[in-house]
Amino acid sequence: MGKRDGSLTTVDRASHTKIVATIGPACDSLKTLAELIRAGVDVFRINTAHGTSDDHARMLQIARAAADEVGHPAAVLVDLAGPKIRLGELAGGEMTLAPGETVRFVRGETAQAPDQLVCSYESLIDELEPGDRVMLADGTVVLKVVEAGPDEAVCQVEQGGTLRSRQGVNLPGVRLRAPALGETDRSVAVWAAEAGADFISLSFVRSEQEILELRDLVNEVSPDARIVAKIEKPEALENLEAIVHAADAVMVARGDLGVEIDIARIAVVQKQIVDACRRVHKPVIIATQMLDSMHESRIPTRAEATDVANAILDGADACMLSGETAIGRYPVEAVRMMHRIAMATEPAARPFREHARSESAAPDDIPPITEAVTRSAARIARELDAELIIVASATGRSALSISQTRTLVPTIGVSNSPQTLRRMCLYWGVVPLPSAPIDDDQALLEYIADRGLQSGRLKSGDRIVLVAGTGVSSSQHNAVIVEEVA
Ligand code: PEP
Repeated sequence: MGKRDGSLTTVDRASHTKIVATIGPACDSLKTLAELIRAGVDVFRINTAHGTSDDHARMLQIARAAADEVGHPAAVLVDLAGPKIRLGELAGGEMTLAPGETVRFVRGETAQAPDQLVCSYESLIDELEPGDRVMLADGTVVLKVVEAGPDEAVCQVEQGGTLRSRQGVNLPGVRLRAPALGETDRSVAVWAAEAGADFISLSFVRSEQEILELRDLVNEVSPDARIVAKIEKPEALENLEAIVHAADAVMVARGDLGVEIDIARIAVVQKQIVDACRRVHKPVIIATQMLDSMHESRIPTRAEATDVANAILDGADACMLSGETAIGRYPVEAVRMMHRIAMATEPAARPFREHARSESAAPDDIPPITEAVTRSAARIARELDAELIIVASATGRSALSISQTRTLVPTIGVSNSPQTLRRMCLYWGVVPLPSAPIDDDQALLEYIADRGLQSGRLKSGDRIVLVAGTGVSSSQHNAVIVEEVA
Protein backbone atom coordinates (compact mmCIF):
# COMPACT_ATOMS: atom_id res chain seq x y z
CA MET A 1 0.00 0.00 0.00
CA GLY A 2 1.35 3.38 -0.94
CA LYS A 3 1.93 5.84 1.84
CA ARG A 4 -0.03 9.08 1.67
CA ASP A 5 0.75 12.48 3.02
CA GLY A 6 -0.82 13.07 6.38
CA SER A 7 -1.74 10.68 9.14
CA LEU A 8 -4.76 9.92 11.24
CA THR A 9 -2.67 10.20 14.35
CA THR A 10 -0.32 12.88 15.58
CA VAL A 11 2.66 10.81 14.46
CA ASP A 12 3.12 9.08 11.15
CA ARG A 13 3.59 5.36 11.70
CA ALA A 14 4.41 4.18 8.21
CA SER A 15 6.08 0.97 9.39
CA HIS A 16 4.27 -1.91 11.06
CA THR A 17 7.12 -3.33 13.14
CA LYS A 18 7.16 -1.89 16.65
CA ILE A 19 10.24 -0.27 18.12
CA VAL A 20 11.24 -0.66 21.76
CA ALA A 21 13.84 1.84 22.99
CA THR A 22 15.73 1.64 26.26
CA ILE A 23 15.82 4.84 28.34
CA GLY A 24 19.21 5.91 29.66
CA PRO A 25 21.41 8.98 30.07
CA ALA A 26 21.57 9.56 26.29
CA CYS A 27 17.83 10.20 26.02
CA ASP A 28 16.26 10.66 29.46
CA SER A 29 14.77 14.10 28.96
CA LEU A 30 11.19 14.90 28.09
CA LYS A 31 12.33 16.60 24.88
CA THR A 32 14.37 13.63 23.61
CA LEU A 33 11.76 11.03 24.52
CA ALA A 34 9.16 13.07 22.63
CA GLU A 35 11.54 13.19 19.67
CA LEU A 36 12.01 9.41 19.91
CA ILE A 37 8.23 8.86 19.78
CA ARG A 38 8.02 11.05 16.69
CA ALA A 39 10.92 9.10 15.15
CA GLY A 40 9.14 5.76 15.66
CA VAL A 41 9.38 4.52 19.26
CA ASP A 42 6.31 2.64 20.47
CA VAL A 43 7.54 1.22 23.78
CA PHE A 44 10.08 2.61 26.25
CA ARG A 45 12.08 0.10 28.29
CA ILE A 46 13.25 0.94 31.80
CA ASN A 47 16.13 -1.42 32.59
CA THR A 48 16.04 -1.75 36.37
CA ALA A 49 19.44 -3.49 36.39
CA HIS A 50 20.81 0.06 36.29
CA GLY A 51 19.98 3.16 38.33
CA THR A 52 17.98 3.74 41.51
CA SER A 53 14.26 3.41 42.17
CA ASP A 54 14.05 7.22 41.95
CA ASP A 55 15.65 7.07 38.49
CA HIS A 56 13.10 4.45 37.38
CA ALA A 57 10.16 6.46 38.70
CA ARG A 58 11.43 9.55 36.91
CA MET A 59 11.86 7.64 33.64
CA LEU A 60 8.30 6.36 33.84
CA GLN A 61 7.01 9.83 34.54
CA ILE A 62 8.86 11.47 31.60
CA ALA A 63 7.86 8.62 29.25
CA ARG A 64 4.20 9.32 30.09
CA ALA A 65 4.73 13.08 29.78
CA ALA A 66 6.44 12.66 26.38
CA ALA A 67 3.52 10.60 25.05
CA ASP A 68 1.11 13.28 26.30
CA GLU A 69 3.15 15.99 24.66
CA VAL A 70 3.22 14.19 21.30
CA GLY A 71 -0.44 13.15 21.68
CA HIS A 72 0.36 9.54 20.82
CA PRO A 73 0.35 6.53 23.16
CA ALA A 74 3.70 4.99 24.10
CA ALA A 75 3.91 1.95 26.36
CA VAL A 76 6.38 1.44 29.19
CA LEU A 77 8.11 -1.88 29.79
CA VAL A 78 9.79 -2.27 33.17
CA ASP A 79 12.57 -4.84 32.82
CA LEU A 80 13.37 -6.70 36.05
CA ALA A 81 17.07 -7.37 36.50
CA GLY A 82 16.70 -11.05 37.44
CA PRO A 83 19.44 -13.13 39.09
CA LYS A 84 22.19 -11.64 36.97
CA ILE A 85 25.51 -12.59 38.55
CA ARG A 86 28.30 -10.03 38.45
CA LEU A 87 31.92 -10.11 39.53
CA GLY A 88 32.63 -8.25 42.77
CA GLU A 89 35.63 -5.96 43.30
CA LEU A 90 38.75 -7.43 41.74
CA ALA A 91 42.14 -6.72 43.33
CA GLY A 92 43.28 -3.59 41.47
CA GLY A 93 39.92 -3.41 39.67
CA GLU A 94 41.17 -5.36 36.65
CA MET A 95 43.03 -8.58 35.82
CA THR A 96 44.32 -10.20 32.63
CA LEU A 97 44.13 -13.98 32.41
CA ALA A 98 46.11 -16.24 30.09
CA PRO A 99 44.97 -19.73 28.98
CA GLY A 100 46.12 -22.46 31.40
CA GLU A 101 46.38 -20.10 34.38
CA THR A 102 44.59 -20.95 37.64
CA VAL A 103 42.17 -18.61 39.42
CA ARG A 104 39.82 -19.26 42.32
CA PHE A 105 36.32 -18.06 43.23
CA VAL A 106 36.27 -17.23 46.96
CA ARG A 107 33.52 -15.93 49.24
CA GLY A 108 33.10 -12.24 49.92
CA GLU A 109 32.60 -9.04 47.97
CA THR A 110 36.23 -7.97 47.49
CA ALA A 111 39.10 -10.09 46.17
CA GLN A 112 42.15 -10.03 48.47
CA ALA A 113 44.70 -11.52 46.03
CA PRO A 114 45.41 -11.20 42.29
CA ASP A 115 44.32 -14.81 41.58
CA GLN A 116 40.98 -14.45 43.40
CA LEU A 117 37.50 -13.82 41.95
CA VAL A 118 34.42 -12.83 43.93
CA CYS A 119 30.86 -12.41 42.73
CA SER A 120 27.42 -11.11 43.68
CA TYR A 121 25.86 -14.61 44.05
CA GLU A 122 26.71 -15.83 47.57
CA SER A 123 25.99 -19.51 46.93
CA LEU A 124 28.08 -19.79 43.77
CA ILE A 125 30.85 -21.79 45.45
CA ASP A 126 28.29 -24.24 46.88
CA GLU A 127 26.74 -24.85 43.49
CA LEU A 128 29.76 -25.15 41.20
CA GLU A 129 31.06 -28.62 40.39
CA PRO A 130 34.22 -29.82 38.63
CA GLY A 131 33.70 -29.67 34.86
CA ASP A 132 31.32 -26.64 34.99
CA ARG A 133 32.11 -23.76 32.64
CA VAL A 134 32.09 -20.17 33.85
CA MET A 135 31.80 -17.46 31.20
CA LEU A 136 32.91 -13.97 32.16
CA ALA A 137 32.63 -10.55 30.56
CA ASP A 138 30.02 -11.44 27.90
CA GLY A 139 31.69 -14.77 27.22
CA THR A 140 35.06 -13.29 26.26
CA VAL A 141 36.81 -15.13 29.13
CA VAL A 142 36.05 -18.81 29.75
CA LEU A 143 36.97 -20.79 32.88
CA LYS A 144 36.56 -24.47 33.70
CA VAL A 145 36.05 -25.57 37.31
CA VAL A 146 38.73 -28.13 38.23
CA GLU A 147 38.18 -28.39 41.99
CA ALA A 148 35.21 -27.40 44.16
CA GLY A 149 35.75 -27.14 47.91
CA PRO A 150 33.75 -25.61 50.78
CA ASP A 151 35.48 -22.23 50.57
CA GLU A 152 36.69 -21.93 47.01
CA ALA A 153 36.20 -23.19 43.47
CA VAL A 154 39.46 -23.56 41.61
CA CYS A 155 39.22 -22.82 37.89
CA GLN A 156 41.52 -23.14 34.93
CA VAL A 157 41.44 -20.44 32.26
CA GLU A 158 40.35 -21.95 28.92
CA GLN A 159 40.03 -18.69 27.04
CA GLY A 160 42.02 -15.74 28.32
CA GLY A 161 41.28 -12.02 28.33
CA THR A 162 40.92 -8.99 30.54
CA LEU A 163 38.35 -8.80 33.35
CA ARG A 164 37.09 -5.78 35.23
CA SER A 165 35.14 -5.52 38.50
CA ARG A 166 31.36 -5.99 38.18
CA GLN A 167 31.41 -7.60 34.72
CA GLY A 168 28.80 -10.30 34.08
CA VAL A 169 29.14 -13.98 35.02
CA ASN A 170 27.22 -16.64 33.07
CA LEU A 171 27.09 -20.33 33.91
CA PRO A 172 25.72 -22.17 30.89
CA GLY A 173 24.52 -25.64 31.80
CA VAL A 174 24.73 -25.00 35.56
CA ARG A 175 21.29 -25.28 37.12
CA LEU A 176 21.48 -22.49 39.64
CA ARG A 177 19.13 -22.42 42.61
CA ALA A 178 18.68 -18.61 42.53
CA PRO A 179 15.01 -17.83 41.77
CA ALA A 180 14.21 -15.77 38.66
CA LEU A 181 12.12 -13.53 40.90
CA GLY A 182 14.24 -12.52 43.88
CA GLU A 183 13.34 -10.14 46.70
CA THR A 184 14.57 -6.98 44.93
CA ASP A 185 12.73 -7.84 41.73
CA ARG A 186 9.56 -8.58 43.70
CA SER A 187 9.52 -5.08 45.13
CA VAL A 188 10.39 -3.54 41.74
CA ALA A 189 7.53 -5.52 40.15
CA VAL A 190 5.07 -4.28 42.79
CA TRP A 191 6.24 -0.71 42.23
CA ALA A 192 5.92 -1.13 38.44
CA ALA A 193 2.38 -2.53 38.70
CA GLU A 194 1.34 0.22 41.13
CA ALA A 195 2.84 2.86 38.88
CA GLY A 196 0.87 1.54 35.90
CA ALA A 197 3.67 0.00 33.82
CA ASP A 198 2.19 -1.61 30.72
CA PHE A 199 4.63 -4.52 30.50
CA ILE A 200 6.90 -6.10 33.11
CA SER A 201 9.64 -8.41 31.88
CA LEU A 202 11.22 -11.23 33.84
CA SER A 203 14.90 -11.98 33.15
CA PHE A 204 16.53 -15.43 33.13
CA VAL A 205 13.19 -17.26 33.08
CA ARG A 206 13.58 -21.05 33.26
CA SER A 207 10.02 -22.31 33.71
CA GLU A 208 6.42 -21.22 33.33
CA GLN A 209 5.99 -21.34 37.13
CA GLU A 210 8.24 -18.29 37.39
CA ILE A 211 5.97 -16.38 35.01
CA LEU A 212 2.89 -17.45 36.95
CA GLU A 213 4.52 -16.37 40.21
CA LEU A 214 5.20 -12.91 38.78
CA ARG A 215 1.68 -12.74 37.38
CA ASP A 216 0.16 -13.58 40.79
CA LEU A 217 2.29 -10.94 42.47
CA VAL A 218 1.45 -8.27 39.90
CA ASN A 219 -2.25 -9.16 39.80
CA GLU A 220 -2.54 -8.45 43.50
CA VAL A 221 -1.73 -4.84 42.63
CA SER A 222 -3.06 -4.36 39.12
CA PRO A 223 -4.42 -6.75 36.50
CA ASP A 224 -3.39 -4.36 33.73
CA ALA A 225 0.32 -5.10 33.53
CA ARG A 226 1.29 -7.67 30.93
CA ILE A 227 4.15 -10.11 31.54
CA VAL A 228 7.06 -10.50 29.12
CA ALA A 229 9.27 -13.60 29.38
CA LYS A 230 12.91 -12.94 28.49
CA ILE A 231 14.38 -16.03 26.86
CA GLU A 232 18.07 -16.14 27.69
CA LYS A 233 18.71 -19.51 29.40
CA PRO A 234 19.05 -23.01 27.90
CA GLU A 235 16.41 -24.19 30.40
CA ALA A 236 13.96 -21.69 28.89
CA LEU A 237 14.49 -23.26 25.49
CA GLU A 238 13.72 -26.69 26.98
CA ASN A 239 10.43 -25.31 28.38
CA LEU A 240 9.75 -22.87 25.57
CA GLU A 241 6.16 -23.74 24.70
CA ALA A 242 4.98 -23.67 28.31
CA ILE A 243 6.75 -20.35 28.96
CA VAL A 244 5.32 -18.76 25.81
CA HIS A 245 1.88 -20.01 26.82
CA ALA A 246 2.18 -18.54 30.34
CA ALA A 247 3.51 -15.15 29.23
CA ASP A 248 1.72 -12.31 27.43
CA ALA A 249 4.75 -11.56 25.24
CA VAL A 250 8.30 -12.78 24.80
CA MET A 251 11.71 -11.18 24.36
CA VAL A 252 14.59 -12.93 22.62
CA ALA A 253 17.27 -11.50 24.94
CA ARG A 254 20.24 -12.22 22.74
CA GLY A 255 22.79 -10.55 25.03
CA ASP A 256 22.75 -13.24 27.70
CA LEU A 257 21.34 -15.91 25.40
CA GLY A 258 24.44 -15.57 23.22
CA VAL A 259 26.61 -16.46 26.21
CA GLU A 260 24.35 -19.10 27.75
CA ILE A 261 24.14 -21.10 24.51
CA ASP A 262 26.67 -21.53 21.70
CA ILE A 263 26.61 -18.20 19.88
CA ALA A 264 26.74 -20.10 16.58
CA ARG A 265 23.16 -21.31 17.25
CA ILE A 266 21.67 -17.91 17.97
CA ALA A 267 20.05 -17.24 14.57
CA VAL A 268 18.35 -20.64 14.50
CA VAL A 269 17.20 -20.35 18.11
CA GLN A 270 15.80 -16.87 17.38
CA LYS A 271 13.70 -18.37 14.57
CA GLN A 272 12.48 -21.20 16.83
CA ILE A 273 11.39 -18.73 19.51
CA VAL A 274 9.63 -16.48 16.99
CA ASP A 275 7.81 -19.48 15.51
CA ALA A 276 6.73 -20.68 18.97
CA CYS A 277 5.27 -17.22 19.66
CA ARG A 278 3.58 -16.88 16.28
CA ARG A 279 1.87 -20.25 16.69
CA VAL A 280 -0.04 -18.99 19.74
CA HIS A 281 -0.23 -15.32 18.77
CA LYS A 282 2.10 -13.88 21.38
CA PRO A 283 4.03 -10.73 20.45
CA VAL A 284 7.78 -11.31 20.28
CA ILE A 285 10.55 -8.73 20.63
CA ILE A 286 14.06 -9.28 19.23
CA ALA A 287 16.63 -7.59 21.46
CA THR A 288 20.27 -6.63 21.77
CA GLN A 289 22.99 -5.37 19.47
CA MET A 290 20.56 -4.80 16.61
CA LEU A 291 22.24 -1.52 15.60
CA ASP A 292 25.16 -1.77 18.02
CA SER A 293 27.65 0.27 16.02
CA MET A 294 25.23 3.21 16.18
CA HIS A 295 26.52 3.79 19.73
CA GLU A 296 29.26 5.69 17.94
CA SER A 297 28.23 5.95 14.31
CA ARG A 298 25.42 7.66 12.44
CA ILE A 299 24.93 4.61 10.23
CA PRO A 300 24.82 0.91 11.11
CA THR A 301 26.98 -1.80 9.57
CA ARG A 302 25.56 -3.78 6.66
CA ALA A 303 25.32 -6.79 8.96
CA GLU A 304 23.27 -4.85 11.53
CA ALA A 305 20.85 -3.48 8.93
CA THR A 306 20.48 -7.06 7.68
CA ASP A 307 19.93 -8.34 11.24
CA VAL A 308 16.98 -5.97 11.78
CA ALA A 309 15.51 -6.90 8.40
CA ASN A 310 15.95 -10.62 9.09
CA ALA A 311 14.23 -10.29 12.48
CA ILE A 312 11.26 -8.74 10.65
CA LEU A 313 11.33 -11.47 7.99
CA ASP A 314 11.42 -14.07 10.81
CA GLY A 315 8.10 -12.62 12.01
CA ALA A 316 9.11 -10.45 14.98
CA ASP A 317 6.52 -7.99 16.26
CA ALA A 318 9.11 -5.60 17.64
CA CYS A 319 12.81 -4.83 17.50
CA MET A 320 14.60 -3.38 20.51
CA LEU A 321 17.34 -0.82 20.96
CA SER A 322 19.38 -1.05 24.17
CA GLY A 323 22.63 0.89 24.53
CA GLU A 324 21.96 2.56 21.17
CA THR A 325 19.29 4.77 22.76
CA ALA A 326 20.35 4.50 26.42
CA ILE A 327 23.98 5.54 26.17
CA GLY A 328 24.74 5.95 22.47
CA ARG A 329 25.64 9.15 20.67
CA TYR A 330 22.81 8.89 18.14
CA PRO A 331 19.60 7.70 19.85
CA VAL A 332 17.19 9.49 17.49
CA GLU A 333 19.13 8.42 14.39
CA ALA A 334 19.10 4.80 15.61
CA VAL A 335 15.30 4.85 15.92
CA ARG A 336 14.90 6.50 12.51
CA MET A 337 17.20 3.89 10.99
CA MET A 338 15.25 1.00 12.51
CA HIS A 339 12.03 2.53 11.20
CA ARG A 340 13.52 2.89 7.71
CA ILE A 341 14.74 -0.70 7.66
CA ALA A 342 11.27 -1.86 8.74
CA MET A 343 9.65 0.17 5.94
CA ALA A 344 12.00 -1.28 3.37
CA THR A 345 11.57 -4.86 4.62
CA GLU A 346 7.89 -5.30 5.44
CA PRO A 347 6.54 -5.43 1.87
CA ALA A 348 9.00 -8.23 1.10
CA ALA A 349 7.86 -10.15 4.18
CA ARG A 350 4.33 -10.64 2.98
CA PRO A 351 4.41 -13.99 1.13
CA PHE A 352 6.62 -15.48 3.81
CA ARG A 353 4.26 -14.39 6.56
CA GLU A 354 1.22 -15.88 4.89
CA HIS A 355 3.09 -19.11 4.46
CA ALA A 356 4.34 -18.99 8.04
CA ARG A 357 0.89 -18.55 9.50
CA SER A 358 -0.04 -22.09 10.28
CA GLU A 359 -3.64 -23.16 9.79
CA SER A 360 -3.28 -25.31 12.88
CA ALA A 361 -2.41 -22.31 15.04
CA ALA A 362 -4.21 -22.37 18.36
CA PRO A 363 -4.02 -18.81 19.67
CA ASP A 364 -3.96 -18.28 23.41
CA ASP A 365 -6.65 -16.02 24.90
CA ILE A 366 -8.40 -15.13 21.62
CA PRO A 367 -11.98 -16.40 21.25
CA PRO A 368 -12.43 -18.51 18.08
CA ILE A 369 -15.17 -16.25 16.68
CA THR A 370 -12.96 -13.16 17.05
CA GLU A 371 -10.07 -15.03 15.49
CA ALA A 372 -12.11 -16.16 12.45
CA VAL A 373 -13.68 -12.71 11.99
CA THR A 374 -10.41 -10.81 12.23
CA ARG A 375 -8.76 -13.16 9.74
CA SER A 376 -11.65 -12.59 7.35
CA ALA A 377 -11.45 -8.83 7.89
CA ALA A 378 -7.78 -8.88 6.93
CA ARG A 379 -8.53 -10.89 3.80
CA ILE A 380 -11.45 -8.62 2.80
CA ALA A 381 -9.29 -5.53 3.36
CA ARG A 382 -6.60 -6.94 1.09
CA GLU A 383 -9.01 -8.05 -1.63
CA LEU A 384 -10.74 -4.67 -1.68
CA ASP A 385 -7.46 -2.78 -1.47
CA ALA A 386 -8.82 -1.03 1.62
CA GLU A 387 -6.90 1.87 3.13
CA LEU A 388 -7.56 1.03 6.78
CA ILE A 389 -8.87 -1.60 9.14
CA ILE A 390 -10.47 -0.28 12.32
CA VAL A 391 -10.97 -2.30 15.45
CA ALA A 392 -12.54 -1.15 18.72
CA SER A 393 -11.08 -3.24 21.46
CA ALA A 394 -11.77 -3.27 25.19
CA THR A 395 -8.84 -5.47 26.21
CA GLY A 396 -6.74 -5.31 23.03
CA ARG A 397 -7.26 -8.99 22.21
CA SER A 398 -9.05 -8.38 18.91
CA ALA A 399 -6.39 -5.83 17.91
CA LEU A 400 -3.76 -8.48 18.69
CA SER A 401 -5.67 -10.98 16.61
CA ILE A 402 -5.62 -8.67 13.57
CA SER A 403 -1.97 -7.91 14.18
CA GLN A 404 -1.16 -11.59 13.98
CA THR A 405 -2.63 -11.83 10.47
CA ARG A 406 0.28 -9.56 9.47
CA THR A 407 -1.91 -7.67 7.05
CA LEU A 408 -0.11 -4.78 5.44
CA VAL A 409 -3.32 -2.76 5.53
CA PRO A 410 -2.78 -0.38 8.47
CA THR A 411 -4.95 -1.19 11.48
CA ILE A 412 -6.30 1.58 13.67
CA GLY A 413 -6.97 0.37 17.20
CA VAL A 414 -9.47 2.36 19.26
CA SER A 415 -10.45 1.90 22.86
CA ASN A 416 -11.74 3.92 25.77
CA SER A 417 -9.06 2.38 27.97
CA PRO A 418 -5.69 4.18 27.95
CA GLN A 419 -4.03 0.93 29.12
CA THR A 420 -5.44 -0.97 26.15
CA LEU A 421 -4.26 1.74 23.75
CA ARG A 422 -0.76 1.53 25.24
CA ARG A 423 -0.80 -2.27 25.05
CA MET A 424 -1.49 -1.97 21.32
CA CYS A 425 1.87 -0.20 21.01
CA LEU A 426 3.51 -3.64 21.00
CA TYR A 427 1.16 -5.15 18.40
CA TRP A 428 2.63 -5.29 14.90
CA GLY A 429 0.76 -3.03 12.48
CA VAL A 430 -1.74 -1.65 15.02
CA VAL A 431 -1.76 2.12 15.46
CA PRO A 432 -3.60 3.15 18.64
CA LEU A 433 -5.89 6.14 18.19
CA PRO A 434 -7.06 7.83 21.40
CA SER A 435 -10.38 9.66 21.86
CA ALA A 436 -12.37 8.02 19.06
CA PRO A 437 -16.11 7.36 19.69
CA ILE A 438 -16.25 3.62 20.21
CA ASP A 439 -19.81 2.86 21.28
CA ASP A 440 -21.49 3.36 17.93
CA ASP A 441 -20.06 1.75 14.75
CA GLN A 442 -21.51 4.37 12.43
CA ALA A 443 -20.20 7.26 14.52
CA LEU A 444 -16.78 5.61 14.62
CA LEU A 445 -16.68 5.14 10.84
CA GLU A 446 -17.71 8.77 10.32
CA TYR A 447 -15.10 9.99 12.80
CA ILE A 448 -12.32 8.03 11.05
CA ALA A 449 -13.50 9.15 7.60
CA ASP A 450 -13.63 12.83 8.68
CA ARG A 451 -10.20 12.69 10.28
CA GLY A 452 -8.78 10.86 7.28
CA LEU A 453 -10.20 13.38 4.81
CA GLN A 454 -9.00 16.35 6.87
CA SER A 455 -5.47 15.02 7.18
CA GLY A 456 -5.23 13.88 3.56
CA ARG A 457 -4.81 10.28 4.69
CA LEU A 458 -8.10 9.29 3.01
CA LYS A 459 -9.95 10.49 -0.09
CA SER A 460 -13.44 10.02 -1.37
CA GLY A 461 -14.02 6.43 -2.55
CA ASP A 462 -11.40 4.88 -0.26
CA ARG A 463 -12.55 1.75 1.53
CA ILE A 464 -12.34 1.21 5.25
CA VAL A 465 -13.05 -2.04 7.05
CA LEU A 466 -14.49 -2.10 10.57
CA VAL A 467 -14.29 -5.20 12.73
CA ALA A 468 -17.49 -4.89 14.74
CA GLY A 469 -19.45 -6.59 17.47
CA THR A 470 -23.22 -6.97 17.00
CA GLY A 471 -26.09 -8.99 18.38
CA VAL A 472 -26.53 -10.85 21.62
CA SER A 473 -22.88 -11.37 22.41
CA SER A 474 -21.56 -7.83 22.33
CA SER A 475 -18.29 -8.84 23.97
CA GLN A 476 -17.21 -10.64 20.80
CA HIS A 477 -16.19 -9.28 17.44
CA ASN A 478 -18.53 -11.08 15.10
CA ALA A 479 -19.03 -8.83 12.06
CA VAL A 480 -17.09 -7.03 9.34
CA ILE A 481 -18.43 -3.76 7.89
CA VAL A 482 -16.95 -2.23 4.73
CA GLU A 483 -17.54 1.45 3.94
CA GLU A 484 -16.50 3.70 1.08
CA VAL A 485 -15.53 7.17 2.21
CA ALA A 486 -18.15 9.60 0.88
C1 PEP B 1 19.71 -9.32 26.84
O1 PEP B 1 20.39 -10.04 27.59
O2 PEP B 1 19.74 -9.38 25.61
C2 PEP B 1 18.76 -8.37 27.45
C3 PEP B 1 17.88 -7.73 26.73
O3 PEP B 1 18.80 -8.20 28.80
P1 PEP B 1 19.64 -7.10 29.58
O4 PEP B 1 19.78 -5.92 28.65
O5 PEP B 1 18.85 -6.83 30.79
O6 PEP B 1 20.94 -7.77 29.85
